[in-house]
Amino acid sequence: MAGISQQDVLAALAKINDPVKGKDIVSLGMIQGIQVREGHVAFTIEVERARANELEAVRREAEKAIENLPGVLSVTAVLTAEKAPPAPHSRPEQRGAAAGPAGHAAPAKAAVAGVRFIIAVASGKGGVGKSTTAVNLALAFSSLGLKIGVLDADIYGPSVPRMLGLSGKPNSRDGKTLDPMENYSLKCMSMGFLVAEDTPTIWRGPMVMSALQQMLRGVNWGELDVLVVDMPPGTGDAQLTMAQQVPLAGAVIVSTPQDIALLDARKGLNMFRRVEVPVLGFIENMSYFKCPHCGEHTNIFSHGGAKAEAAKLDVEFLGELPLDIVIRETSDEGHPIVLSQPDSEHAKTYRAMATRLWEKLEGGQRAAPKIVID
Ligand code: ADP
Repeated sequence: MAGISQQDVLAALAKINDPVKGKDIVSLGMIQGIQVREGHVAFTIEVERARANELEAVRREAEKAIENLPGVLSVTAVLTAEKAPPAPHSRPEQRGAAAGPAGHAAPAKAAVAGVRFIIAVASGKGGVGKSTTAVNLALAFSSLGLKIGVLDADIYGPSVPRMLGLSGKPNSRDGKTLDPMENYSLKCMSMGFLVAEDTPTIWRGPMVMSALQQMLRGVNWGELDVLVVDMPPGTGDAQLTMAQQVPLAGAVIVSTPQDIALLDARKGLNMFRRVEVPVLGFIENMSYFKCPHCGEHTNIFSHGGAKAEAAKLDVEFLGELPLDIVIRETSDEGHPIVLSQPDSEHAKTYRAMATRLWEKLEGGQRAAPKIVID
């Protein structure tokens, strides 16, 4: 059987009209980011923000049309609202939107109803263990009795669903908002639920933003004490805009000893400072090697860099985790160590970090109340 191709998808979508504009959705340039892999098809329909609701019917029609093609196993069509025009005061050099008087904040930065604190877990580059840290911190917060959500904003390589043992698709009861997925008492939303897990997602900048806004505001998070956002790695424009658009109470920067040496962590710190998001602390991951056989500690890289750097930069050092296969195996298998080995030394380290972060979040709120009216 010949596999389905991008052309087949486009040809089928070209038969669907935008009812208002009277032209088909392909020639109107609304179809973006088509991905086809082994019968699994995903694409986005880019729409003007104000028309998002009325075009839900078109989205369903498009999904149906592709579903009916021979050889198609699954279809995911996501509506993404175009990025709103930049606010006049959105230049990063200037004051953050939320710093203005209450009620005058840019809508993009408005609080998320029911969510007390949103924190970002960020890193200067990929592969340093950012997602592992985000997930274990979330579980550690939860073990303190807090209501926690995890928003996997690492749209380029969403790994949170796997780490939390979640799969399938989120449910929508009203056709407009999504219910988060849930496991281990954590609520979770990830682009990974909306596109096939093994497909690297290629999004254009504005689409990343609108997808993030949808995951933040189009999801029924309910009451949360903390929403942990697993940011995409790096400190480029996409991350900067994200840091600007999400009403962050603070950020945690994860780095390895090598990346401290390469100043990536410092870049992350500067990025958040530019947009006036408090950096709550540094975490050094893969700090030293813990031998699974003899338990010996080996400093593969110059261990302790993050601590020294944090002191120099006036940022709190929250703690360190070694390079330990148990951390990798447990998170990659969907049973992160805080959950599966709660009495382990590493679980205790994550809990100590979460305790300290919670203290800072609550303390920070008393010191600088930020009331933003949506
Ligand atoms: P990032 O989000 O920064 O790209 P991940 O959290 O996905 O990084 O981690 C990358 C890989 O490294 C994963 O396989 C993860 O299990 C593993 N890993 C993360 N932290 C540790 C650690 N402290 N010890 C061993 N493996 C780790």
